Amino acid sequence: MTREDIMQIIEDENIQYFRLQFVDIFGFMKNVAIPKSQIEKALDGKMMFDGSSIDGFVRINESDMYLKPDYDTFTILPWRNKEGVSAARIICDVHKSNGAPFEGCPRVNLKRVLAEAKELGYTMNVGTEAEFFLFEKDQNGVATTITNDVAGYFSLDPEDTANDCRREIIETLEKMGFEIEASHHEVAEGQHEINFKYADALTAADNTVTFKWVVKSIASKYGLHATFMPKPIFGVNGSGMHTNQSLFNLDGTNAFYDESDPLQLSKIAYAYIAGALKNARAFAAVTNPLVNSYKRLVPGYEAPVYCAWSASNRSALIRIPAARGLSTRTEIRCPDPSCNPYLALAMMLNCGLDGVKNDLTPPPSVNKDIFEMTSSQMMEEGIMVMPSSLKEAIEELKSNPISKATLGNHIFNKYIEAKEKEWDEYRIAVTDWELKTYLGIY
Ligand code: GLN
Ligand code: MG
Ligand code: MG
Ligand code: MG
Repeated sequence: MTREDIMQIIEDENIQYFRLQFVDIFGFMKNVAIPKSQIEKALDGKMMFDGSSIDGFVRINESDMYLKPDYDTFTILPWRNKEGVSAARIICDVHKSNGAPFEGCPRVNLKRVLAEAKELGYTMNVGTEAEFFLFEKDQNGVATTITNDVAGYFSLDPEDTANDCRREIIETLEKMGFEIEASHHEVAEGQHEINFKYADALTAADNTVTFKWVVKSIASKYGLHATFMPKPIFGVNGSGMHTNQSLFNLDGTNAFYDESDPLQLSKIAYAYIAGALKNARAFAAVTNPLVNSYKRLVPGYEAPVYCAWSASNRSALIRIPAARGLSTRTEIRCPDPSCNPYLALAMMLNCGLDGVKNDLTPPPSVNKDIFEMTSSQMMEEGIMVMPSSLKEAIEELKSNPISKATLGNHIFNKYIEAKEKEWDEYRIAVTDWELKTYLGIY
């Protein structure tokens, strides 16, 4: 997409409102809204905003930041079209007032990590599967955890608003250029999944934050609350964001595919799996960033708990989907959709590449149900357990040298500071569980 293409679409579609978007380090999408008169200035990357108002961004004395638009992310917002007047958005990189890319911008950071991978001879392709719940709101418009459907996994069109809502989400995404591959009701009541086509890692991260925004926007049109919170209800499945990833060679061939191997996986694929397993405990604080994330990573709900890989078993952290050839990939199953995809992809990539650079071999794949194994069997097979709390995950993130190299000093420090604060607030909170368990009997 060129500047001229965009100007043409703006005229043809009568676009009067324009949003410049970027994400903060927690993956929240921020918007600067501008009228049509400012569009050319914005396309030239001359729009400034005050970075000091964004969590974890900058100090007050360096608060003037530039938004540099990525033309390829230009898209019309179908649900904002009113009486022939349209709105559009474009995703931006944040640059400093001296013009240099800002290290604290997760998108800038992911680009750096991808450029380093390219030096090694690889590009990364990614497909994310962000699950979510649709909940009702109460009379005051506050989200509840009440669902209005009684459907289960893959059930057929339940007659409910959630179903119409999901249809409109899909239609909206298609109008925005997403190629939807499948959509289905997930295991839990009120839980859904919509799959769209994989892309290069940067585009996949852009698509993932856009996807979440569209889902939330359309849901609210239906009076529903869409949530990507990893475990909103105790006792049923949580929401994951399985992340399919593969390395491609610069000539466009899939570096994970090798016809001659029994599993048709290349040495690079095995090394990537080995690196990801070895470092999974360290990337957890980024792929599973909330206190609540660790309530999902427990046995019994199709979420991984143990650092193992398998060609078939869905209880493993890494599964190898059956497709081969160009579609050969690893599916890392621990991430949840509350993560910042720009940071999560950077971390998973560099953890996998650690295996490639050091020629690591993964432990044998585990094809039995890991949840049935005893702890001594697991020890024997060298299977590690994922962190059981955000606290444990933060400590792992801090102690692994890949983290700082991948996130850069700015993001690394701000991220840890914020997550330690989050943990501490939780640690001193008195929860419903404690009241239910202790109040009556002590
Ligand atoms: N909801 C499950 C999770 O937490 C995944 C279920 C599935 O997609 N099979 O990861
Ligand atoms: Mg899926
Ligand atoms: Mg799923
Ligand atoms: Mg999956």
